[in-house]
Order: sequence, then structure tokens, then C-alpha cells
Amino acid sequence: MHHVRNFAIIAHIDHGKSTLADRLMELTDTVQRGSHQEQLLDRNPISRERGITIKLAPVRMEYHLNGTDYILNLIDTPGHVDFSYEVDRTLSCVEGVLLLVDATQGIQAQTIANAYKAIEKNVTIIPVINKIDLPNADIEKTKLELIDFLGVARDEVIEISAKTGTHVDEVLRKIVEHVPPPAPAPDNAPLQSLVFDSYFDPHTGVVSFIRIMQGTVQKNQKLHLVMGNVSFESLDVGIFTPELKPISTLSTGEIGYIVTNLKDIHRVRVGDTISDRTDQVQLPGYKPVKPMVFASLFTTDPGDYEHLKNALEKIYLTDSSLTFTPMYSKALGAGFRVGFLGLLHADVVRERLEREYDLNLIITTPQVDYHIVNDSYEEPVARLHIVTPHEYLGTVMQVCESHRATFITMDNKHQLYLEYEIPLSEMISDFFDTIKSVTSGYASFDWEFVRYQQVDAAKLSILLNNTEIDEFSEISVPERAYHRARTLTSKLKDVIPRQQFELRIQAKYKGKIISAERIAPFRKDVTAKLYGGDRTRKDKLLKKQKKGKKKMKMIGAVEVPKEAFVALFKR
Ligand code: GDP
Ligand code: MG
Repeated sequence: MHHVRNFAIIAHIDHGKSTLADRLMELTDTVQRGSHQEQLLDRNPISRERGITIKLAPVRMEYHLNGTDYILNLIDTPGHVDFSYEVDRTLSCVEGVLLLVDATQGIQAQTIANAYKAIEKNVTIIPVINKIDLPNADIEKTKLELIDFLGVARDEVIEISAKTGTHVDEVLRKIVEHVPPPAPAPDNAPLQSLVFDSYFDPHTGVVSFIRIMQGTVQKNQKLHLVMGNVSFESLDVGIFTPELKPISTLSTGEIGYIVTNLKDIHRVRVGDTISDRTDQVQLPGYKPVKPMVFASLFTTDPGDYEHLKNALEKIYLTDSSLTFTPMYSKALGAGFRVGFLGLLHADVVRERLEREYDLNLIITTPQVDYHIVNDSYEEPVARLHIVTPHEYLGTVMQVCESHRATFITMDNKHQLYLEYEIPLSEMISDFFDTIKSVTSGYASFDWEFVRYQQVDAAKLSILLNNTEIDEFSEISVPERAYHRARTLTSKLKDVIPRQQFELRIQAKYKGKIISAERIAPFRKDVTAKLYGGDRTRKDKLLKKQKKGKKKMKMIGAVEVPKEAFVALFKR
């Protein structure tokens, strides 16, 4: 066990984690050079085989140094901020991390946020500068940044090219020399293992990825999930090569998987503890995964409702962070309110529904979940990390302030590092796009949910001839209400066709009408332009008009075409 080293690679997205993992696997003969796809762990063999997305990719490597055989367990962490909780859990499974920084980019927001997580957990950090082969690599500047940020000595920073393999052997040596082995545990200690990911295999059941803190696990053992409070059996246990490979026993300090006989992935949550006894306590750091943004989903063809339901149920089986509940909308019929981790997650699910299940969807604008406490609203607030070149300080701060963000701290070094608290609702609007555009793409971000906080918000209701239309209404803060009201009413005026009667579109906020539009009644018969007696053409037109009507949604007496909803919800 003292020959085991567990480590993760953390970095900002695209700084080269998966490419470095390729080289490490090749150097240790875990995979053959040239015989696998690039960024193998990104296209994890397990994901590929089963057609699912595994966000974390573990692999076990064997390495020989100075006459000793070592087992190196590497976990490649997911690159997107929607999955920062997974990164956090991964860091609880390892004793060391490679902090990888692209020499053409320098330290970025995810580098900092992830490094803080590693520092908090007392994990050994090995700083690595990547992409030194590139002509625009600024190795010296990146090194100074790392020395400053981590307080490390100059010669502790490794300079590599994950692409060409330069100095990658040094990375392996440093891992063995600097990352401590897992802490030992007394013989016969009860099993305590931390779940850092899991997926559903329709043939066997949920497969859990675990780090054993103490004890051992074998197949055909009776086991227990502490938070999930459910007992199950291990059908198999094994390691990652990176394909799943059964072995007889996993013991203290090791990383591997357990094939369970459980069918519900939502009971095997990331961060939960698996034990061989029912009296064990939960390992620290567990947080229930909470959906952060919500949208309502409808099919353009109401006949597809059952198909959508089945598709969501299928995706739910494989996606432990997805939640959905049936709902009914007067305008759009039966649908679902779906919860996502963030906008990326929402996009992935939408794409799967449309591509894999061939569904035509209407998705309402994603909104955060407001809590109502004693008649007032509370909204989710996030901690936001921004890294940007110095010259954009003023504009970035302006954008933050106009998005109700509260300044927390700033570090002015080789680049600017800013920390804010920002309402999630502001962040999921145009915030990222705006910051990217005012910094010509140079700013980077990371965020995590911190808490719910009281907010002066109210419902912005949209009325069509005095009837409130829920689908168009939303919760808004006063700073946004007027602009949003004008946008919504004028957009609706554009997309709703004339009716037989005058149509008033109004936006009401805190008891007042704050924006209004009107659509004059429809006068002309479509057939009026056909003078003369071409009967068949007239019939055709009437038929077409009738068919058009079927595509309309009746909201009270108002006919609203499907396209109106699509246009309205388009971001
Ligand atoms: P990840 O998002 O951190 O996993 O990054 P990837 O490993 O997917 O790499 C992102 C991009 O950078 C890919 O196009 C890689 O080929 C490229 N890349 C990674 N390491 C190097 C390197 O050392 N040199 C060069 N020139 N490109 C690299
Ligand atoms: Mg990757």
C-alpha cells in the first residue's frame, strides 16, 4: 500500500489534462502509443462502450522506479464548472495533484479555484507548465505566476510538453517522490469508501467509482450506502485499465469500482460512503447535488408527450444530477419542469433529447429556483472567480456591478484575480458573454453555489387581454423588470398574429402595468385578394388557413402560434 500513489490532474479547460494523461499512460505501458485515440480519457472507454458521458476518468498505472514497483492511480477531472462538485470529491480521493498550466495562457480562473480546493484539502500540489513546445509559450512569466501564487521554489515547477512528451517522465518521478502514500488503517478496520462517480449499466446495475479510505471490499459482499441508506450487494469489484478489470480485492488506499445490484443511480450519490457495516458514519464533505437552473420542456407536437416522458426517464437512469416533474401549461399542454446543474448541463440534455430521441422541443428560458420565505423571495447566490488581464479591470468591474455582484476581493499580480458574489440569475443571463466580449475573450471564470439570500424580487406577469399567461411570466428584480417587460411585450407583439379582435399585451410588476403593446384586429379575409372565381385555389387557401389554425395554441380566446413560444424563448 505504501507503493500506491493517488493523484488527480487539475487545470483550466483545454490546458492539456487529457493529453498529459495519454502520455502518462503510454510511459507506464498502460496503453500503447499510437494504438489509442487522442485524449483517451476524454473519450473514456467506459463511456464509449456504453454510449454515456462519464465526467471523471480514472486509470490505474504501474510504474517502476529505483527498483520499486508503484501503483499510480490517476483521476482526470471534468473541465467544466458545472461539475465543480465532482472535482471537489475527486480531491478527497487523492493525496496529490498535478496543477497544469498552459504556458500560452498562464493561470486562469479554474486553475485558481481548483488549486484553492486542493489547498483546503491539504493535498500535495505539483506545479506543471504545459505546452512549452508552442512558439508563443511564455514559460518564464507562467513560472513566476506559479511561484507567486503557490509560494513554491523555482526548481519545483516542471516544464513539459504533453504533446511531444518532453519531461513527462519527470512528472512521474515527482509523483512518486512528493505525493505521500495513502494513510494506513488498522487490519480489520470496517470498510469506508468514498463514491466519486457512478453510472448505470442496464445489464448489471449501478457501477460506483470509489476510493477506499480503510478496509477491503470483494465481490458478493453485503454493503451499505450511508447517505442513501440502502443495502446492496457487490456483484464485482475491480480497477480501471482504463477499461473495467475485475480483481479479487480492493483495499485501503486503492481506487477502483464496485458493480452493485442497485438499479437507481439517484440512490448512489457522489460523495456518499459505502461500508460493509450499517453503523459507519458518512465521510466528510458530502453535499447533495442540487439542480441550479430550471426550464419547462414541451414537445411541439402534443402527440409526442409520451415519447418525451420515456426519453427523460431513460436519461434520468444514467444522469444522477437530472431532476424532472410533470407539469401542465394552459398554452403548451403537458410537459415537464426539468432541473439542471447549469446551462451546459441543460444544453447537453436538450441535445440528447433532440438527437438521440429525435424530439422537437419547446424549452422555456432557464430560470433559477426562487424560494418564498414569509412572503418574500430568496435567490441563489454564487461565488464567482474571474481572471483577466490588467487593462480590463474597469470594464469587468462595471459589468459585475451592473449584474448585482458584490465585490469580495482582488489580487493584482501578473494578471488580475477578482472574486465576487453574484446572484445566479444574473450569471445565467448574458453575464459570461458580456465579460468575454469586453475582454476580447481573455477573461476566464469559475463559480460555485454558496447560499440563498433575500432579494427584492416579484413576479413580472404578462397579460393577454387581462388574462395572465404563466408561460410568459417570470420572477424579476426591479433593476431588470422594466427592460425585461419591454422586451417581452414587444417580442410578443412581433410574434402573435392579428386576431379577430384587438389584443392588448401588458406587463405587470408589483401591481402596476409597466409596459403595454396592442395588436390591431385582423380585417382581411385571406381569400379577399383572390378576385374572380378560382374555386379550387380558394378552397386550397381556406384549407391551408385551417391547417395553420391547428398549429395555433388557444390561450383563452387568443390564438398564439407555436413559433411565438419558440421565438420568445430563443436566447
Ligand atoms: P483538457 O481540457 O485539459 O483535457 O485539454 P486537452 O488535453 O483536451 O488539450 C486541449 C488542446 O491542447 C488539445 O488540442 C491538445 O492537443 C492541445 N495540447 C495539449 N497539450 C499540449 C502541448 O503540450 N502542446 C501543444 N502544442 N498542444 C497541446
Ligand atoms: Mg480533458
